[in-house]
Order: sequence, then structure tokens, then C-alpha cells
Amino acid sequence: SLRTVASPWTLGPLHLRNRVVMGSMHTGLEVLDDGGAAMAAFYRERAAGGVGCIVTGGIAVSDEARGGPDFAVFGTGGADERFRVAVDAVHEEGGAVLAQLFHAGRYALASGMVDRHGRPQRVVAPSALPWAAARGVVPTELSAAEVERTVEDFAAAARSARTIGFDGVEIMASEGYLVNQFQSPLTNLRDDEWGGDPVRRRRFAVEVVRAVRAAVPDLAVTIRLSGADLMPGSTTDDEVDALVHELLPLGLDGISVGIGWHESRTPTVQASVPHGAWLAYAERIAGVVRASAHLGVRVIASNRMTDLRDGEAVLRDGLVDAVALARPFLADPELVRRSLDGRFDVVNTCIGCNQACLDHSIVGAPVSCLVNPRAGRELAFPARPTTEPKRVDVIGGGPAGIAAAVDAARRGHRVTLWEADDALGGQFALAAAIPGKEDYAATVRAARAELDDRGATVRLGRSATAADLLDSDAVVVAVGVVPRALDVPGVDLPHVVSYETALRDGVPAGTVAVVGGGGIGVDTAAFLVESPDEVVRAEQFAERWGVVVAADVIGDVPQRLPAADRVLRPGDQVTVLRRTGKFGQGVGITSRWVAVGRLRDAGVHMVGGVQEYLRIEPGALWIRDEDGVERAVPADHVVVCVGQERAPGADADEQLVAGLRAAGVPVEVVGGARDARSVDAVRATSEALAAVRRL
Ligand code: SF4
Repeated sequence: SLRTVASPWTLGPLHLRNRVVMGSMHTGLEVLDDGGAAMAAFYRERAAGGVGCIVTGGIAVSDEARGGPDFAVFGTGGADERFRVAVDAVHEEGGAVLAQLFHAGRYALASGMVDRHGRPQRVVAPSALPWAAARGVVPTELSAAEVERTVEDFAAAARSARTIGFDGVEIMASEGYLVNQFQSPLTNLRDDEWGGDPVRRRRFAVEVVRAVRAAVPDLAVTIRLSGADLMPGSTTDDEVDALVHELLPLGLDGISVGIGWHESRTPTVQASVPHGAWLAYAERIAGVVRASAHLGVRVIASNRMTDLRDGEAVLRDGLVDAVALARPFLADPELVRRSLDGRFDVVNTCIGCNQACLDHSIVGAPVSCLVNPRAGRELAFPARPTTEPKRVDVIGGGPAGIAAAVDAARRGHRVTLWEADDALGGQFALAAAIPGKEDYAATVRAARAELDDRGATVRLGRSATAADLLDSDAVVVAVGVVPRALDVPGVDLPHVVSYETALRDGVPAGTVAVVGGGGIGVDTAAFLVESPDEVVRAEQFAERWGVVVAADVIGDVPQRLPAADRVLRPGDQVTVLRRTGKFGQGVGITSRWVAVGRLRDAGVHMVGGVQEYLRIEPGALWIRDEDGVERAVPADHVVVCVGQERAPGADADEQLVAGLRAAGVPVEVVGGARDARSVDAVRATSEALAAVRRL
């Protein structure tokens, strides 16, 4: 049971109904010119879903504090009115909401940003040091007077938050943003009252907290601190602890512990990062607080937590006071209520893919969620039940089919989901075999449980025929894709298998050549070389990255079964081959470098620029390499990962669709079944939702 998670607590002046905080997420809804309606709908659904406290996406404390053009600034462009609507919505649902006070500093992506006079936006920082993604924009070093004005900007933003009706503010001081930049010797080269030694580098954080506390004496004030920057040469643990000591007497109500910088080379939020990887940092800071005289200051742990059973394990120790989860609230707005009801089986689990959230946020695209395509679009696709229940048939139980069926069932339609395979999941079921992607199975299980709850029919092991569907009111065809075959002599040999077969049945001992180094090839190689045991992987992760991984939470969530075992012996050579493009192409920008890096760490051979695959023989795959030289790659087994194509029955499906349409049955074709060339699960689930709403 989630006894501790469910227990009320106080955060400064706030009485909160449970110990779950929805962490800050930049959604882009903050600047939509809709009077705040979409943002309010987004937050309302999460508050109604039971979360105790919500932290908004970062709200810039000035124009130059914005991270990009889609950041809101209090007092400009109708922002205050929009936030007022959102705050009211959260309050109506019994939740509390903190405004996150944000300054990007050198992380501002200036391209396309103009100031209020229409001039290119100035980017500022403690020192004139750009970061890699700044595209040559060197930040302007803040003068001492400007630093003081920036401190006052934080205080003014806090006052605005109070006027608007927020319950409190969270000062963003982690993830490498401005406050964090002042603290770090990597980004603060000043030698004045704001830099030069650790004490002076900490002064900016101290003065911001002091000013904000004085500005809003009756509100909750928290700070999001960097538990560790994960940047070689940056702030040490002792310096973080020293900052905590300096902040504690200033009247803070809470410390939320973040991790890593955006430019850090240590993975923090990718699927392969073990659950609970960063809890030890929150626990260390909690230890500092507990040892002080300021026991009323709350400590909030966060990052790489997808399940509140993990949260319970953390909170039960009594060190930290609350847990903050962010992306899991995109995946399931009802995460808290469902978990507190013990319905873990229906909680739609965030799979850590980043594909519709971080990868979108980085390029300023609207944030949503692969496994919950309604996220961020609650207004466009309202949750309310249909007034016209229909019979809806969904053909195909992969990601798109699941998204369509669950949405229709939730809204009160009579749904039948047809899946030719003997289990639901499609590409998700395969992905779940990959170490670190076990949560893919959880999202499929959640869909199944919800469909069962809502009385939908799930028909496995059988394709629907025209006769089955003639009485349907609406049909969604989401039959997905199958692995594309390789056209090379020898592909019919018994040691050549598709990635689907490899992931399902494992690969016998011996050397392996993985043909194709896109997203699936990289995942398949990870399946071959990484331990299926999360405990082992957590230890390896800690050692590889020199970080502390709290073991508390691993093993507490029964649904995270170990991945299917593969038979490969340690030391058997695995080679991934690619003709053109980058290894891991197709994997999102925030995850690709991690996916490829872990293969390099594991000793996988990566052979790019292959001109031609010539033939497969027992024990070898012959290629023409990038220099035009014919050579053999050792391969007791060959796994083919050269993309996907429409399912073999696609023509039959087309006839089915044509037949149904001729008979007057509305039909929508979505995802890979509609266009297999650029299969993209975000596109597929999003199309599925839109399609089922049109019917
Ligand atoms: Fe989680 Fe992926 Fe959804 Fe982002 S898009 S919230 S990582 S499931």
C-alpha cells in the first residue's frame, strides 16, 4: 500500500493532500494565445487526477531569462491572465500550484527570439561562455549592477505569482540554468562579489532566495537544487552541501533535488537509466537538512521514477518528504488517484522514450506523450463521454491500435480490439525485451486492464474479416508494420533471423552481425550485450558513470520483469553494420547518444559506410566496406534490422477497407499501416487518437 505516499504533509504554509508533486515541465502551452484555456485544461486534469502539488513549467523572470520564444514572462503578452485561469483550475480540483521562477542564462536558445523592442534577444550569463547548442551565440557577461537587477527580477516575479494566486514559487537553480551557472566554476569565471571562490559563486543563489522569501512572506518558497551537476570539474558534493547550509536559515520551505546539466554527458532521463538512479543525491541533501536546526525544510526527491511504489519505498525511509515525478504525468494524468486506489495495473506508464516530450520541447514543438497522445491537447480532445455510443472496431493491437481503442472505450463506445497475434503490444511488446525498456510492457498491460475494465472486447489470435465488421459503426485499421527482409544471397540460411525473431526467442551463443544500425539495430545489439537484470545494470551504470545509485527501489515493482534472456556468451563479438547515416538514426535527439554510447562501452563493433552486403555464409557475412574492400564479418548468427514495411496482409487489408467503405462503414487507416516509410510511434498514436475522434 502507498500509506506514506498518501499521507498529508505541509510545505511551509501549504497543507498538501499527498506527497506527490508534479515536477516542472515546459509544455509551450504557457504562451498559447487562448486565454490560458489549454494550459488550464492540462493542469486541471492532473489536479483532478489527485496530485497534491503542481509546479508549472519555467516562467522566465524577465525577457532575457527566457529559454526560447515559447517561454512566458509575467506581465507580458497576457501571461498573467492565462496563469490566473490555470491556477483557478488547479484550485477547483483541490490541488496546489507553485510557479517555477526561471532564468535560462547561457542556455537561452536565442534564435528567433526578440526582445520587447523587436531586437534580437540578448543572452546573458555570469561569464561570456557559450554552450555547445548555442549556435555561436556568446552570452553577455552580466555586470555587477545587472546581477543585482536580476536578483530583483526573481523577487518581482515572485510578487507577480502571489498576485495571480499561486500558492508558492519554486526557484529553478539546477539543470545548468542561470542560478546553477553562477555556482559552478565551469561557467562562472568572475572575480567580483558574484564569483572568484565557492562562497562568492554561491552568493547569487543565496541572494535570490533571500529576495524571493522577502517578496512573498506568506507563500511557499522552494528551490530546485542540483544534487550533482554531472560535469567534470563542476561544483563538488561538499560545495552543494555548503550551499544547502547557507540557504537553510533563509526561510526556505523546501528543496527539490534535480540532477545533471543539459550538456552533461552522463545520461539522466533516458530509458536505459536505472529506476531510482538519482535518489541517493536527494537522500544526501536530506541528511544535511536533518542534521541541521531547520527540520521544517522539506526535501523532495525526483528523477527516473515511473511508479509510485518506488516513491513509497523512498518515502518510507523517512529521509525525504515527498517525491516529484514529471513525465509520468504526461503519460497518465490520473497516476496518483489510480495508484492510491491500488490500481497499478491501469496506470499508463511513462516508457522514458522522450519522443513526444523532451525531443519536442528542445525544438520548440508542442509537448505531448507517445503513450498518451491527449497530453497537452486536452482541450482539442476532451475527456468527456460520448453522447452517441457506437460500435467501434480497431484492427491491430500495437501502439496505435491500443491508443485508439483505449480512447474510444474511455469515452463510452463499445469497442472490439482485434489482434492477429496472441498478445497485445505489437512493436511495444518487442521493445519490452530490450534491457531498460521493460516499462514498454507496463503500458501495454495498462491498456489491456483499462479495456477490460471498460467492457471492451479484446480478440487475440484472429484477424477481423469483412463479415466481422459489416455491422460496425466505425473501424480503425492500425495493423502496423513487419520487419523488412534483406535481399542478399544466403538470407534463407537458418542462422539468419529478423529482429522480431531475435527479440522474441533470443540468439544462440556465437558471434553476431546485426545488419542495419538504425534505432532497431541499436536496440537489438543492446539486447544482445546487456544484462537483463536491472540490479546488475544499476551496478554497471553506477560504475560506468561514477555515480551513486540507490538500490532501494529496484525490485519493488513486480511489473518490471526481467527482459527475455538471450543466450549470447559474454565476449562473443557483436558487430552492427550500417550503410549510410548515423548509428541510431531514428532514435530521438535526447536518447540517441546514450543508446549508441552504451554499445560502444559494451565493446560492440560499429561498422559504418558499408557499400554493399554481398552474401551470407555459415559463420560470416560478406560485405564491401567503405573502402570498397570485400571482407567477411564474423557471424555465427545474422540479425536483420533493415527497417519495416507494411504487414504482408496489407493488400488484403486494403481490399477490406475498400469493401467496408463501399458498404458504408466509416474506416480510418493510421500509423504504419497508412505509411510505413517513416514509422514513428509518436505519429502513429497521435494519428490513432485523431482518427478515432473523427469517427
Ligand atoms: Fe514518457 Fe515517452 Fe510520454 Fe515522454 S513521450 S512522457 S518519455 S512515454
